[in-house]
Amino acid sequence: MTKTIYPGQTIGIIGGGQLGRMMALAAKEAGFKIAVLDPNMESPCGQVSDIQIVAPYNDETALEELAEVSDVITYEFENIDYEGLKRLAEIAYVPQGADLVRITQNRITEKAEIRKAGVPVANYVVATSHIELNAKIDEVGFPCIVKTAFGGYDGKGQVKLHSKADMKQAEPLFEHGACIAEAFVPFTKEISVIVQRNGNGETYCLPVGENIHMDHILHETIVPARVSETVITQATKAAEQIADHLQLVGTLAVEMFVLKDDTLVINELAPRPHNSGHYSIEGSTISQFHQHVRAICGWPLRKPALHQPTVMVNVLGEHVVPLSNVISKYPDWSIHLYGKEEAKTKRKMGHVTILTNDVNKTLDEIKHSGIWSE
Ligand code: AMP
Repeated sequence: MTKTIYPGQTIGIIGGGQLGRMMALAAKEAGFKIAVLDPNMESPCGQVSDIQIVAPYNDETALEELAEVSDVITYEFENIDYEGLKRLAEIAYVPQGADLVRITQNRITEKAEIRKAGVPVANYVVATSHIELNAKIDEVGFPCIVKTAFGGYDGKGQVKLHSKADMKQAEPLFEHGACIAEAFVPFTKEISVIVQRNGNGETYCLPVGENIHMDHILHETIVPARVSETVITQATKAAEQIADHLQLVGTLAVEMFVLKDDTLVINELAPRPHNSGHYSIEGSTISQFHQHVRAICGWPLRKPALHQPTVMVNVLGEHVVPLSNVISKYPDWSIHLYGKEEAKTKRKMGHVTILTNDVNKTLDEIKHSGIWSE
């Protein structure tokens, strides 16, 4: 049953990272209180929350404590224990349910559901052992990418195989359980659609973003994506179709490949706000975080529209000091830092958002700032 949650009531968030922090900041604007569960006392979200429960995400007592203090519970990452979330949903109001987490934390169930929604994924096979992979690999052919079914992110837990001679490289992946092997998609662009839906079925997509990765980590998101109108329409339709099929409540990020002939293949899903949607804080009439809060609180959703073309660039550990050194040069850059203590190399520490009337000029400005080396 859909409930309405009002300002003054408490939103509980499982996970205290930057996504939780930005959700919390959006919610606090409307007067909600925030409780967060995270093992780290100094977590990015903990720093801006009213109540902190410092414990592992799957700690039963801590989850019960979160249930007690929260009027609604959401999560900011998908690798939470499904059984634990299911039990939580029995004693607390979890409008997103637990099923979306079960589906998206495993590439095998995720791909099957995307197909059931009538949307294409790359041709793939499932294997529970290296021997099984050897037997099935010809169904996919080469080049292909082998990915662990569970727990991979930012390119971790995957290897690209060019020919049968590379097969051995996939063997260690099976230490983490079943894998999928999927055909390599010769994409021309990577895009993502953030789709958001409330319990009444009201659904909106954020303007489609184009994603540029560096070393498998998101580097830049350019909005609107530099693709044809057909691609934008198809991408939005595909995301809505998946959201509808999954009876989404909350936020789903849909990562897609665009092919030369403008057709689309879905890469993967994330059942939460996404790095490629951070641009929406300044770039859109409603941010992914505000819309997420509206969706889980049973509020009507707002139709998102872009204020201006927008570029978002990620700030990793190695970029923090160089960025701080040039802040005075770029008054148009909106600086976001997540309050993480240690600026480890490759760790996502923050992002910069720039609204622009000349995307190429802005991309050049970023390139020549000396912060992001090629
Ligand atoms: P993932 O962890 O599945 O999002 O993969 C990380 C990145 O690897 C993607 O953003 C793509 O750049 C690349 N990649 C993953 N799967 C494929 C594929 N089937 N074909 C081509 N590139 C891929």
